[in-house]
Amino acid sequence: MKAAVYHGKEDIRVEQVADPSLDAGDVLLKIDACSVCGTDLRTFRNGDKKIAPPRVLGHEFCGTVVESKNPNANVKVGDRVVMYIVLSCGECKYCRAGRENLCVSRTTMSYHYDGAFAPLVKVPAKAVNRGSLFKVTTEQSSQQMSLAEPLGCVANAHTHLGIGLRDKVAVIGAGPIGAMHAVLARLQGAQSVHLIDINPKRLDMMQRFDIDGTIVSDKEGSHIAESLELTDGDGFDVVIVAVSNAFAQADALEIAGKGARVEFFGGLPKSNPTAVLNTNHLHYKELVLSGSYSERISDFRTAYQLIQSGRFPADKFITHELPLDRITDSFLMMESGEALKVCINPQLS
Ligand SMILES: [Zn+2]
Ligand SMILES: [Zn+2]
Repeated sequence: MKAAVYHGKEDIRVEQVADPSLDAGDVLLKIDACSVCGTDLRTFRNGDKKIAPPRVLGHEFCGTVVESKNPNANVKVGDRVVMYIVLSCGECKYCRAGRENLCVSRTTMSYHYDGAFAPLVKVPAKAVNRGSLFKVTTEQSSQQMSLAEPLGCVANAHTHLGIGLRDKVAVIGAGPIGAMHAVLARLQGAQSVHLIDINPKRLDMMQRFDIDGTIVSDKEGSHIAESLELTDGDGFDVVIVAVSNAFAQADALEIAGKGARVEFFGGLPKSNPTAVLNTNHLHYKELVLSGSYSERISDFRTAYQLIQSGRFPADKFITHELPLDRITDSFLMMESGEALKVCINPQLS
């Protein structure tokens, strides 16, 4: 089969590889849709030490079971499925607390096992046995269902935030993840939702979602004044940083109001992970600052159910569908802000 294989920094090749072969307990999926993640783009640009090449990337996918060597599986041949991509040990203190994302020996699809930028993917027995495959039972398209993985990560962050009717919410970063945060905030009843970004083109694309407004940020900090103005001088009740940028993290504390909840979603580049923060904001405003990493299986289930319900506007996220050969183009389209979410269809030639 033809797959997009990571060989190292700036080196992803679409090339011929052997079809996956199944061992006892494994399940084989035909991939109908695999969305491109900001993480894939980062791996392409900077490399990733956690990935030993050659490795097929792609972890936001929906596919159909075409072969099963697992008689106890909760899905069968012909079922359309999505997958919780973390493989956890089930025994460490974090797994026992239901926090599989923090498992001390976690492995992940597209990092330790080949991913879904390929027509076929093997789901390891360990994942099948843990109930990591979820059958799609509604009419939602495979492209739409592929968003269950990133939406689950976003849902994980929201479990710290408790957004409700009284909250004025700001999301810094108008990419697909920022948009998911904004949509979830709205679905939970937020009083207002604003998106902040340095790129006006990205903010224009946010107009398709049910939000109250956008704010263009700049180096002079006009967005901080504008944020305070918008909130009658109080600052926002919830600020979510959905961009990998130390200045955005610092800004979040500036525009947070008294008693606000602040979420740092995603990390900074490993080569430079330090941010300069005015921690007096934490002290005097009694802020609560939280982080989130990946997702628990319960978050994935939440996201899968939400997309299946049709209440999550998944179709508005997918702006492009491309064949595997154009994987590198998809990275450029994401960087420029031309695409919100690109979905690869490995069955297209
Ligand atoms: Zn992702
Ligand atoms: Zn564990």
